[in-house]
Amino acid sequence: MVKIAHVQLCSCCGCLVSLTDLYERLLEVLDKVELVYSQTLMDVREIPECDIAIVEGAVCLDDHHSLEVAKEVRERAKIVIALGSCAVTGGITRFCKGNQKPKPVHNAFTPLSEVINVDLSIPGCPPSPDIIYNVILALLNNDVDYLSLFVDKKTKACGCDLITEVVNKDLCMGCGTCAASCPTRAIEMIDGRPVIKETCIKCGVCSFQCPRIRYPKFLENIEGE
Ligand code: SF4
Ligand code: SF4
Repeated sequence: MVKIAHVQLCSCCGCLVSLTDLYERLLEVLDKVELVYSQTLMDVREIPECDIAIVEGAVCLDDHHSLEVAKEVRERAKIVIALGSCAVTGGITRFCKGNQKPKPVHNAFTPLSEVINVDLSIPGCPPSPDIIYNVILALLNNDVDYLSLFVDKKTKACGCDLITEVVNKDLCMGCGTCAASCPTRAIEMIDGRPVIKETCIKCGVCSFQCPRIRYPKFLENIEGE
């Protein structure tokens, strides 16, 4: 049976809660996999060898334990998934400036992929239960086409990426998907184009959900056929 570990670094545990929000479908998933590690759900102290490690949270560069855990995950898991925006883009931890008790020196946080090689990234704050479910099923069914959507290593981290990558390249079609997907309502559609407000928490979801951000790649694929 496929062995899965859930590892939490610098995060709020909301990604795990989103996974449990699958309700009955979680039981369906657990019938197909063996959960071998989860700090929240199990009393297993060491990360064991496993097939898939689902890692939520950013990495604190000033915390040696955080760095060691990230390294152990890479050594012991065949596939590493960065789950949630903190792991994928840094998310809210990008605002951290440290200087808080009891560890004022803990001031540098970085996405998981900056520290170890990550195979798949699922942004979201938190990612929806459906997207987590679909990725796990795609892994179990070796659905490479679906998984390819999650392989992009670029850490699109801010609503500004939408402007530089889509709007400024004249690719925006004004669909409003970015505004609908933003968890903090930081995007306002004005004259059919997204405008980013200061409530952006740099989760990267708008870029991930925008149907046009991968347009040049799709165009290459179509032209190549
Ligand atoms: S999702 Fe993409 S294409 Fe749609 S409005 Fe936003 S930036 Fe434009
Ligand atoms: S604009 Fe919204 S969806 Fe986009 S990165 Fe900022 S918070 Fe996330």
